[in-house]
Formats: sequence, C-alpha cells, structure tokens
Amino acid sequence: MGYQQLLEVPKIELHTHFEAAIPRAVAAKLSGHPENYFQVTNVAELQQGLTRSKAIVSSPEAFERYFNALREYWNSQSIEIVEPIINPLELSRFMNIPAEEVLELLNQEREREYSPIIGWLVQLDAGNGIRGALETQKLIDSKLLKNVAGLALVDIQPGTSRMDYLEIISAILRDHEVGISIHAGEFSGPESVWQAVELIDRSGAEFARIAHGISAVQDPKLMNELHKSNITLDLAISSNLATGAVKSLSEHLVKQIAESGVNFTINTDDLTLFNSDLTAEYALALELLGEGSGFTGDELSENARRASFIVRL
Ligand SMILES: [Zn+2]
Repeated sequence: MGYQQLLEVPKIELHTHFEAAIPRAVAAKLSGHPENYFQVTNVAELQQGLTRSKAIVSSPEAFERYFNALREYWNSQSIEIVEPIINPLELSRFMNIPAEEVLELLNQEREREYSPIIGWLVQLDAGNGIRGALETQKLIDSKLLKNVAGLALVDIQPGTSRMDYLEIISAILRDHEVGISIHAGEFSGPESVWQAVELIDRSGAEFARIAHGISAVQDPKLMNELHKSNITLDLAISSNLATGAVKSLSEHLVKQIAESGVNFTINTDDLTLFNSDLTAEYALALELLGEGSGFTGDELSENARRASFIVRL
C-alpha cells in the first residue's frame, strides 16, 4: 500500500513524546533554525536533539503555536486518537510558569473541537528522579489535568532502577483509573523488559504497554509472558534506525514480533528528530511485514485501538 493510500487510514498514535511531535520542517519554521538543527543520527545526539526541540515551547504563546502545529499534523495524518507523553514539570520549567498553569493550557487545547481524542500519558521520571515523580504524583492527585490516560516511565537515570518507582506507581494506580507505559528494551537487553514486566505486575496495573521493547524478541519465554499478560509493544522503526538501536531496516524484528502473537503498535516516538510521520511508519512496517503477511494499515490501527488506554478506560 502506497503512502497516499495509507495517509487516509484512520490512525492511533500511542508512543509520541509531546516535545518532539511536530514535523521537522514545521519545527524549523517555528524556531527559526535550519531543519538539520533537529537531526539525530545516533544515540549520542538524542539528548541534544530533545533539548533543542523542547526549547521551541518557551512561553504560553509558543505553546499555543506549537499545539496548533501538532493539531495540523494529527489531522493531516488522519490521526483519530493520540496518547502523547507529557512532562508537566519540564514544560513548567521551559515556559517559566507554575505546573498548574501548564495543566490548564493542556486542558484548553484538548477541549478544542477539532482535536483528535487525546489521552495524556504523564511522565513520572521528569529528569529529577523520585523527587520529580512525587511532585508529578501531586499534580495527578490534584485532578487539575483532565483525560489522563496513563503514566509513563521514560528515562531512568543512572543509578536508579524502574523498581524505585514501584511505590509511587502503585499509589497512583490505586487512586486513579489509568494505564502505564514503560520504556524498556530499546538499547538494553531482554532483562530490562523483564524488569518492566515485573514492575507492571507488582504495581497492580490493569492496562500496560512497553515503549520499544524490541530486545524482548531475543527471549521466547519473555515473549510468552508479554502475550499472556496482554502487554503491547509500542514500536517506532525510524527511531530505532536513527538512534542505532537497530543497525539497518532489514534487521528490524517487527515481523518476528507480529508472528509471536504479542500485540504491537506502530509509532513515531520523536518525529521531529527522526524526520518521519505516522503514515511513513505504517509504510515501513508493512514493507517489513511483507505482503504475504496479509497485514494492512487498518489492522495496524486496530492493534493500536486495542492497546489504547483512553479507549478502554
Ligand atoms: Zn520514546
């Protein structure tokens, strides 16, 4: 199926970081930097790319312009449901406004009629470890932010482990009906995915996904466990290639994951940095799955619908 045909397929995006979620050309226009300013070609450049992209949202006015660009992108891609990972504390620092005001801005944007359905994934590990997670927990408990679909663990700092967040996650899941999305198995081996599975299990989460999780495919027992526990892998092919998590397109194991029966979804991750869009990711996935697999764009969307927190809550 060609790009143009796939563009029309209604889509759902479950693994997209708010701070790098607009097309690179638009980011260049909004920031006044050339497009290659946002380019990431290896993992060492990833943090720099994210910092550059985050800097676009430097005030409430810039936030509104950014959100308009996001909405335009979502509509152009026929995206019906999106669960962006947001980091209220970091947005508050970048815009120099209280976190409560950030939540208010997010509410306002979500309520616009022409938005897709938005369910926020609130990032707990906001760059300052457990302290930041406790602060974020308070924000979630305040219920100021509407349509929280889940929690996200993204960037475990050196010297800490996913398990350090167990208590906070369990408490939030007890008080709020939300899912959880954990980054694991991108640059690390299956053991990091096992750890995420254990955290999901012990936290009492009812709905769970793993962002990336590609190294799980090396461990059949783990794939079995993911299948049994109904945990979805939110894949991002261009991201894996740009960061070097996967060496070449032909080495991407989306096909093996699909054949294992573990539910998977196709996403953009940080599309500003990887110069991609969701339609291009669907096209890449279908190419790798192969015509013989019988997979279609609609089925990729259906996988995501099945895994969406906001649909199931
Ligand atoms: Zn990610």
